[in-house]
Amino acid sequence: MIIDRLKNSVVLGDGGAIFELERRGYVSAGPFTPQVVVEHPEAVRQMQVDFARAGAEVLQAVTYYAHEEKLKDVGADGRLEQINADAVRIARQVADQYSCLVAGNLCNTWVYDPKDAASHAKARRQFDDQIGYQMNQGVDFFIAETIEYLGEAKIALAAIRAAGQPAMITLGFKKDDCTLDGVVVEDAFKTLEDLGADIVGINCFRDPVLMLPLARRMRDGVSCFTATQPVAYRCTPEKPYFQIQEHGGKVAFPLALDPFVLTRFEMARYALDAQQMGINFIGACCGAAPHHIRAMAEALGRTVPNSKYSPALDLHTIIGDSTHTREKNGQILCEQRYGKDNCDR
Ligand SMILES: [Zn+2]
Repeated sequence: MIIDRLKNSVVLGDGGAIFELERRGYVSAGPFTPQVVVEHPEAVRQMQVDFARAGAEVLQAVTYYAHEEKLKDVGADGRLEQINADAVRIARQVADQYSCLVAGNLCNTWVYDPKDAASHAKARRQFDDQIGYQMNQGVDFFIAETIEYLGEAKIALAAIRAAGQPAMITLGFKKDDCTLDGVVVEDAFKTLEDLGADIVGINCFRDPVLMLPLARRMRDGVSCFTATQPVAYRCTPEKPYFQIQEHGGKVAFPLALDPFVLTRFEMARYALDAQQMGINFIGACCGAAPHHIRAMAEALGRTVPNSKYSPALDLHTIIGDSTHTREKNGQILCEQRYGKDNCDR
């Protein structure tokens, strides 16, 4: 079904769930693991409702880092199945209500070592476990994201294909235009396409302005569908990814990124630029909140449920239209003086 949607038009993705839930007080910065789906499912549900109402057509299950290696680090490995299953169950409920699709979600495993064949088997088993637990609750396709080794991406792709699911594989690029195992952008994505990826893309680390040049090279090098999911934090050519920005002389990641948050206008511009470039799946990653997604949707010409509450600055008392403001103030003064029934509206 994701393939049908992509054939018809651009598909709009969601924002950065883990960072949004951290800001809302339900995920701890540092581990960034998603026990929230078990401990506060209502918080996850509300956030996904917020993204759906903002126009996201795909809701990613909040299972980032919900794999054995990371959960073990925080003493939550006993919850592996529950977190993966509950995350998809929540996403499914919201998705069905708003006619969205559910993407199962996998990420870098932290066990993969290009030189250690045993680690490849371990990574595969982690992917297989997560895929199994998530599929039981009904996913429409899988996204494997934030993967920096082509070798690890190939393992994720093989696992998703073995489960018979459509696969979107997104690689993360920090400083360079090649993967950590030294494969240049064009070759990495061509390899994934040749191995059967339905959608290839780039996500996280870079802001839209610094991601799109790489996306163009990806777009030109493959014939399958393509995706971009940049962070909504401003980066610079000298510091091209968000983990190394500095604020007040210190590294801003992850707690002092607020001054780097992109405006809704910048994210709207990104959506248009990506569309023009021929990117098929246009989403966002860390830092992107529902207001960014709504601005992206509206830039693409869409009216979404929350467009009802889109800006109406002409109604603002100070910066709005003066005639209207004068009329409104006059109405209020009249009502205060003479009572509501004696003032014409
Ligand atoms: Zn991210």
